Amino acid sequence: MKKVIVGGNWKMNKTVPEAQALARQLCDRLSDVNFADIFICPPFVDIYSLSIILREKESKIILGAQNMHYEAKGAFTGEISADMIKSAGGKIVVLGHSERRHIFNENDEYINRKVRAALDAGLLPLLCIGELLEEREAGKTEEVIRTQLKGSLDGIKIEDPSKILIAYEPVWAIGTGVTATPEQAQDAQKFVRKILAEMFDENIANEIRILYGGSVKPANAASLIVQPDVDGLFVGGASLDAESFEKIVRDAIK
Ligand code: PEP
Repeated sequence: MKKVIVGGNWKMNKTVPEAQALARQLCDRLSDVNFADIFICPPFVDIYSLSIILREKESKIILGAQNMHYEAKGAFTGEISADMIKSAGGKIVVLGHSERRHIFNENDEYINRKVRAALDAGLLPLLCIGELLEEREAGKTEEVIRTQLKGSLDGIKIEDPSKILIAYEPVWAIGTGVTATPEQAQDAQKFVRKILAEMFDENIANEIRILYGGSVKPANAASLIVQPDVDGLFVGGASLDAESFEKIVRDAIK
């Protein structure tokens, strides 16, 4: 039985004091939650100090980063490596987020290098995939999912399903207030699992946790999580407020 997982993507929000205050509130509000794994992905500058706060609070909340470079070190001004994230206390890394794909032009081949580097370093990659509105309207949702999964995971063997997380995040639902219906999320995520079964094997695919992301809010979390192929939720805007993130986590019961 897979444990539900709920994560917050803080994106480029919160100053250091604001991030620390939010982390403290989350530790206090969520200290009793055992039914779900919870992670937060603050900006890079917060990871280390938040790791200290989480340790002091004896919190089970896991820290993640929103991106990384695939090289281990060197002349890559402005970049952060997997080892740096790990040494700061990060355990998860978000890769292939639609904002990285569309604003920073990251393609599947580039994301593939990052997934490999994260796995090699012992970080847990959260690979994000999802179609644009025009792709959905053109009936290309499955084609996009297949291409992104096969490209981003090309040549990668997953023998342990706990070593990777996938987030299906339709681009038209991210930050727009428009959520995929539970049926749309289920259909797409069932298809994600089918492709994972083709790439790895059915048992592995069944155990890999697939999160849904895209305008998840307290009002829709419960109806999304009960879908059979929705194993978790990845939350952007609504994770920036302790009360709404807490409500989402508490509703994330299968
Ligand atoms: C995200 O950034 O991954 C996301 C799902 O954002 P939002 O919840 O704001 O749509």
